[in-house]
Amino acid sequence: MKNNWSNLEAKKYIKKYTKLGHSKDMALRVYTTRLLGRNSELVLHGGGNTSVKTSIKDIDGKNYDVLCVKGSGWDMAEIEPAGLPAVKLNPLLALKNKKYLSDEDMVAYQKRNLIDIKSPNPSVETFLHAFLPFKFVDHTHSDAIMDVTNRPNGKELCKKIFGNKVSIVPYVMPGFGLAQKINEVYNKSPNINCLILLNHGIFTFDNDAKKSYDLMIKYVSIAEKTIRKLKRKK
Ligand SMILES: [Zn+2]
Repeated sequence: MKNNWSNLEAKKYIKKYTKLGHSKDMALRVYTTRLLGRNSELVLHGGGNTSVKTSIKDIDGKNYDVLCVKGSGWDMAEIEPAGLPAVKLNPLLALKNKKYLSDEDMVAYQKRNLIDIKSPNPSVETFLHAFLPFKFVDHTHSDAIMDVTNRPNGKELCKKIFGNKVSIVPYVMPGFGLAQKINEVYNKSPNINCLILLNHGIFTFDNDAKKSYDLMIKYVSIAEKTIRKLKRKK
């Protein structure tokens, strides 16, 4: 899979969005979200989402740590900062040890902690993004990743091909339960830079926007290479 990052383009995004009053973090988040969204092999039918942890000044004049995460109704390919609603990060992290939260309560809690109440609803994967302690988190439902995980021996195959910086996670329906599962997996192996979710997709993360994007392309390329190899063997 081709890596479409361009330093020149990244600079253009920073120039454009900082002029509009957004942070450099947000500018780069918009840039790499679009790079992912414009690749139909990564993001099909609006699947996938991204986030950035940054800080924002509210009308009370205070700075708040926030998670800006893709909101519903926005296409990653055409994302704008408005499509990445800011949710206060500390209230999200306060639920790290909570055992259960219904979908209804989760959605209400996320909404209640928005900086701007008029924002679109934050993704159902918001807590998952919040619990991963990295500035940039990228998530796609890549075709190639699905192909390698959706095999009878998918789990073993993934363990073999992706290496020791990747944890493999069994299928859990998206929502608070999945966020808790990921939190548990991450705490066991805090050196990882990628999670492969069986029958679901892939998460990559780093404190640098480019590195998180690079990891996505790297791991998807490994999956593609594996598929080609397996096809030749047949
Ligand atoms: Zn997903």
